[in-house]
Amino acid sequence: MGIVEGIMVETRIGTVLEAAPIPMVLIGADARIAQANPHAVMLMGPDMVGRHHAFAMRQAGLVAAIEAALNDAKPGVVAQVPFGGSHETLHRVTVTPIVLPAGPGAVCAFEDMTEQEQISQIRRDFVANVSHELRTPLTALIGFIETLRGAARDDPAARDRFLTIMDREANRMNRLVQDLLSLSRVESEERRRPTEQVDVTSLVGMAIAALRPMADDAGVRLEVTGGTDPLYVQADPDQLMQVFDNLIENAVKYGGAGKVVTIALDHDANDAFMRGPSIRVTVIDRGEGIDPVHIPRLTERFYRVDNHRSREKGGTGLGLAIVKHIVNRHRGRLKIESSPGQGSRFSVVLPGT
Ligand code: ADP
Repeated sequence: MGIVEGIMVETRIGTVLEAAPIPMVLIGADARIAQANPHAVMLMGPDMVGRHHAFAMRQAGLVAAIEAALNDAKPGVVAQVPFGGSHETLHRVTVTPIVLPAGPGAVCAFEDMTEQEQISQIRRDFVANVSHELRTPLTALIGFIETLRGAARDDPAARDRFLTIMDREANRMNRLVQDLLSLSRVESEERRRPTEQVDVTSLVGMAIAALRPMADDAGVRLEVTGGTDPLYVQADPDQLMQVFDNLIENAVKYGGAGKVVTIALDHDANDAFMRGPSIRVTVIDRGEGIDPVHIPRLTERFYRVDNHRSREKGGTGLGLAIVKHIVNRHRGRLKIESSPGQGSRFSVVLPGT
């Protein structure tokens, strides 16, 4: 093939690279980067063209794969190739040998796998967290079963004590499994907006009635302000009930004994943020409050300010994660305001009708 045909082949390859929706580079027979499409320039910078591939890429695994393509016509795939400084991305690079007029070359295609990597990391963390959460009560149960079979066999007082603890631990596991199921149900429906017309005032009333015995036990008084008229929203009543239930229960749990928890309902005919009418339910406690560093993370699964305290109160660490997903499904907003010593305010704002 003559020089002109050679140039034509490279031009044609260049046209294909330009059209590709992902970063791609052509490495020539001289082991230098002959061409790079705009996506590749964005990824690796404009001055890589003309440089030896090892200088341009600087990734040992990738350099070896390119050498194998150039020297032995061997194709290869290199996973998890990082690029960039602080916003590091992870790419899967496919290296394909190609015959160029001047000799063997290679084409590298870069697929951005950063998001997939993050998703699988989240999945791995989640499985590790769930296993850890289940292991603690299970270990306790196994230990007490052993004790009841052995040392405490003929000790009725010890038996009762252990059975009480076993009951608590089994209930903890039960709550955890229920919360996990709720979370996965809510997540699977998150994109489907609910369609029922629901009165928030009566829903809050029902949540309060259901929680009153628990509040009484904790010495907490529940009061409602602004909740006289019906306030309608488009909602899934069971899910919305779960939101109020979780928020009020937290306010009772962490709001401090002997105090008052206020559930304030109000209606804004023209909420600038919602671009229309909105209904707001705010659960206010006078407890110890939350340090601002924790606030952005409270809705993460299993995030707790104080692990020991949450467990002692029977918490699963999933309540606020469930609340966030339900509020998202309702196209609403969850706002958390708190400062240490001042108590906390958890507001749910929903588009009104
Ligand atoms: P948990 O089952 O631990 O209560 P949640 O997801 O409901 O899980 O809450 C996460 C964490 O947020 C709790 O462990 C607690 O540290 C903190 N928290 C939630 N509500 C309040 C509140 N009203 N006052 C202080 N801290 C709170």
